[in-house]
Amino acid sequence: MADDPDGLLARARRLDAEDPLARYRDRFVINDPDTVYLDGNSLGRLPKATRDRLRQVIDVEWGVDLIRGWDRWIELGRQAGDVIGELVGAEPGEVTLSDSTSVNLYKLAAAAVAARPGRRVVLTDDDNFPTDQYLLQGLAEAGGLDLRVLPTDLDRGVRLADVRAALDGDVALVCLSHVAYRSGAVADLAGITAATHEAGALALWDLSHSAGSVPVGLGAAGVDLATGCTYKHLNGGPGAPAFLYVRRDLQAGLRQPIWGWFGQADQFSMAGRYEPADGIERFLVGTPGVLGGYAALEGARLSAEAGIEAIAAKARALTGYLIELADAWLVPLGFRLASPREDAHRGAHVTLHHGQAWQVCQALKEAGVIPDFRTPDRLRLGVAPLYTSFGELHVAMSRLRGIVSAGRHERFSTRRSRVT
Ligand SMILES: *Cc1c(COP(=O)(O)O)cnc(C)c1O
Repeated sequence: MADDPDGLLARARRLDAEDPLARYRDRFVINDPDTVYLDGNSLGRLPKATRDRLRQVIDVEWGVDLIRGWDRWIELGRQAGDVIGELVGAEPGEVTLSDSTSVNLYKLAAAAVAARPGRRVVLTDDDNFPTDQYLLQGLAEAGGLDLRVLPTDLDRGVRLADVRAALDGDVALVCLSHVAYRSGAVADLAGITAATHEAGALALWDLSHSAGSVPVGLGAAGVDLATGCTYKHLNGGPGAPAFLYVRRDLQAGLRQPIWGWFGQADQFSMAGRYEPADGIERFLVGTPGVLGGYAALEGARLSAEAGIEAIAAKARALTGYLIELADAWLVPLGFRLASPREDAHRGAHVTLHHGQAWQVCQALKEAGVIPDFRTPDRLRLGVAPLYTSFGELHVAMSRLRGIVSAGRHERFSTRRSRVT
């Protein structure tokens, strides 16, 4: 084809035609068909089922049922947790919705440290998401702990050998992200968890970029604790409650530091003394957001229906195709791949380094392609296997190539906005 000299468009068309998940695109509200949305890893699109469910919840469950709705809403965290558990390899009763990822990290990290008396070190890495680092800094300062921060290659992600070398008998907790927010590198969750256990420590994983994009296998790996967002790949909507996971055999023995009435055994006996519930509920604090909870439930259901293996397979194919386009069109223009090249080591986004990445990002948004900018000098392109098509990636990368080859991004300000 004259307009497809490298055959990459024909390939996109073939891959779309063969895509077993293609029909899921129609399950989302897409009112902007000319926009290529490559930011589903920051905020997933709105599923139609969620829109319909929220309308029903607002009109009937809130509008009519009022306080009587709590008979149902009280189960919502566990109900959604069981669906999310299916996606991350946990058993029923090991996952619930609660608070934000940030707050859950604090609760779980504090509970883990308290369960390892005498050990004073918390281990993380400098590529971990900022909120994780801040929370651990705060926990360390409050508890007189030592925060050990591993230096990690920003493009390759945290490595088992480095974690192993940093472990010793002082370490109480290892807290890392499964899929790196910047590069999309997938950490060796099973290997690092096993090494952590050999050293007598507990493992807490942040699954914000892996829940709904790659299989996690929490149970198979014997992971102790985990948390993550529902508004990214699980399409739960802005600010939807996070999920938290505690392995069942650990639940009764751990104490989290924020003692609220939703964590109380026999909550409505209104007893004066805090006595934590037996199960996963002991990690709850206060009244949960019901609307966000329903949105998290419906989003997770859609991913569970499609199946995490199928989602992950398509994520590998999409990101692999994106890398092919980048190699052919963008590397000659000064871009460099800042994500792992091997399929098995990538989550559902690809990051490209470019010296003027911020300006490129602005120009791309004006051209109807929504990426993310991430420090330093990186353009992050997220794929959402339930609604991203190969054809869209071809369009997005063509636009990107056109902008940079003509220098159009240089018209944009180098000043960053508050939200990037
Ligand atoms: C997005 C993200 C968060 C966000 O946490 P919130 O409490 O929801 O703001 C935390 N950790 C990681 C790894 C993330 O990618």
